[in-house]
Amino acid sequence: MNMGMEVAYTEPDATRILIAEDSPTQRRIIKTVLGRAGYDVILAEDGIKAVSKAFYENPDLLILDIDMPRMNGYQVCRLLKDDYRTSHIPVILLTGRDQETDKFWGLKTGADRYVTKGFKLDGLADTVRELLAQTENEPRDAPQMETRADGGEQEIDVLTRVNDLLDRKLFEATIINEISKLNTISEDSSVTISSVLSVIAKVTDCYVGTVTLLDECEMIVHVHNPVGGTFFVEAKMRAMEAAVPYLPPGSSIKQIEVITDADPGFIEGENPECDAIRSIYTLPLNARGKNIAVMTLLSPRPDAFSEEIRRTMEIIENPACVVVDNARLHEGAMRLAITDGLTHLFNHRHFYELLEHEFQRTNRYMSRMALMMLDIDYFKKVNDGYGHQVGDEILKELAEIITGEVREVDVVARYGGEEFAILLPQTDTRQATAVADRIRRKVDERDFITPEGKIRITISVGVVSFPECAVENQVELVQLADAALYKAKETGRNKVIACGRTDEA
Ligand code: GH3
Ligand code: MG
Ligand code: MG
Repeated sequence: MNMGMEVAYTEPDATRILIAEDSPTQRRIIKTVLGRAGYDVILAEDGIKAVSKAFYENPDLLILDIDMPRMNGYQVCRLLKDDYRTSHIPVILLTGRDQETDKFWGLKTGADRYVTKGFKLDGLADTVRELLAQTENEPRDAPQMETRADGGEQEIDVLTRVNDLLDRKLFEATIINEISKLNTISEDSSVTISSVLSVIAKVTDCYVGTVTLLDECEMIVHVHNPVGGTFFVEAKMRAMEAAVPYLPPGSSIKQIEVITDADPGFIEGENPECDAIRSIYTLPLNARGKNIAVMTLLSPRPDAFSEEIRRTMEIIENPACVVVDNARLHEGAMRLAITDGLTHLFNHRHFYELLEHEFQRTNRYMSRMALMMLDIDYFKKVNDGYGHQVGDEILKELAEIITGEVREVDVVARYGGEEFAILLPQTDTRQATAVADRIRRKVDERDFITPEGKIRITISVGVVSFPECAVENQVELVQLADAALYKAKETGRNKVIACGRTDEA
C-alpha cells in the first residue's frame, strides 16, 4: 500500500425510502419488507407529513399510498414532481384502486410507477430496486435540501406550496384557455396571430412579438408597448434573422413580407427606455410533425425571458401552435375557394359577389364604377401551335400584366378560360378605356418567352361604366361589357371598345 495515499473508506449511506401510508398495518408490513431488503425506511402517516419529509429528509425514493388523510398521494406526487428540489426523486404510487382511470391519473401526476395493492411484497422490493437502478444513472444537479424547521412551520410551508402550485396551474389553465379561445376570432390569419401575440405579451415581458409563417414567408409583428422607430425596425430585423434558418430552402430574408398591427404612436419617435434589444427568445412552432412558424419575442430589458417565463412559454407553445396552424389552414382554404389556381386571381364566382356588392354601393352612394371584359385573340391557335402548357404560362403572365396596370382597389378575376374581368370602382368610361388600352398595348408589345421562341399575342377588351350606361343591375352591366367585347372581336380584334363609343387601337 502506498503510504501517504491512504484513503479512508466510509460505508455509503444506505438508500432511504420514504413510505407515506395511513394504515399502521400496511406501514409495518412495507417497512419490514423493505428493511429486509436492506433499505432505510422513513415513515409518514399522511400526505402533508410526506411532503415535509420529502423536503427535509432527502429520501432516495418515495412510496405513496393514494388514499390518505389531509392530502392524497396524487397531490403529494404532483407537488413534489413540480418542485425542482424534489422532482428527481422516483415515486411509486401504491394503491388498492385498480381502475384504468386511476392508473392514468396516477401517471399523469408524474409518478414513475403505479403498483396496485394485493401486490406480492417481494414484488415491491423488486420494483424499488429496478427503479433505483434506472434513475441512478440519470445525471442531475444536486438539489439544495432545506434545513429542518420545527413541525408547526413545516405544515404551513406545505400549504403555501400547495397554494402556489394551484395558483400557477390556474394561471396556466387560464392562458391556455385565453389562447385557445382565439381559434375562431377572425377569417384573417394575421389578425388571429396578432391576438395570440397580444396574449403572450401580457404574460411575458415582451415589447415586440413576431410570428413568421414559414411556407407563406410572412411575418406578423405585434407591438405591445410604445417602442419607437429604431427599436421597431431593429426588432423586425432580429426576428427575421431568427426565422431564416427555418425558412424553406432557397428563400431569403428579403422575401419575408411583414404585416404589423402596430399603433402608429407605438413606432414613431424614440422611447429612451427602448434604446437596444437586450433580450430575445425564439421558439419554433411545430404542427403535424413539421415547423410551420417561428415565434420571436423581444424586449429592451436584460434577462426579460427568465426561467419562469420560459416555463410559461412551454405551456403556451402547444395551444399557440394549434391556433396559428388553424388560422393559416382556414385562410388557405378560404383563399382556395375564391381564387383561380392557375393565375391566383379571384375566380368567377367570387368576382360576381364582389361585383354585385360594388354595384349596390355605387348605386346607393350615387358614385360610379367601370367594368372591363378582356379576352385573348385567337388563343386556340396558341394552344394548338405550342401546346396547352405554353398557353397556361401565357395566361399567368397576362394575369401579372393586368394586375400591374391597375390600382390596388381594382378587382381582377379570371372570368373564364382565357377571359378576364376587371372591376374599377370610382371610374368612368374614359378613365377605364385608358386603362384598358394601356393593358392592350402592353400585351401587344410583350414578347412571351416559350421553349420554341418568343411569341406575340393580342387581346380585345369591352368596357362599360355605370351610371354612364344606365343599367338596372350588375347582370346588365356584364351583358353590355360582353357586347362591347364581341364588337371588338367582330371589328378586327386587338382593340378596346367602350359601350356607346369606339376607341380603336
Ligand atoms: P377569339 O379571338 O375569338 O377569342 O378566339 P379564341 O381562340 O381565343 O377563342 P375560343 O373561345 O374559340 O377559344 C378559347 C381557347 O382558350 C380554347 C382553349 O383552348 C383556350 N383555353 C381556355 N382555358 C384555357 C386554359 O386554362 N389553359 C390553356 N392553355 N388554354 C385555355
Ligand atoms: Mg379568345
Ligand atoms: Mg373566349
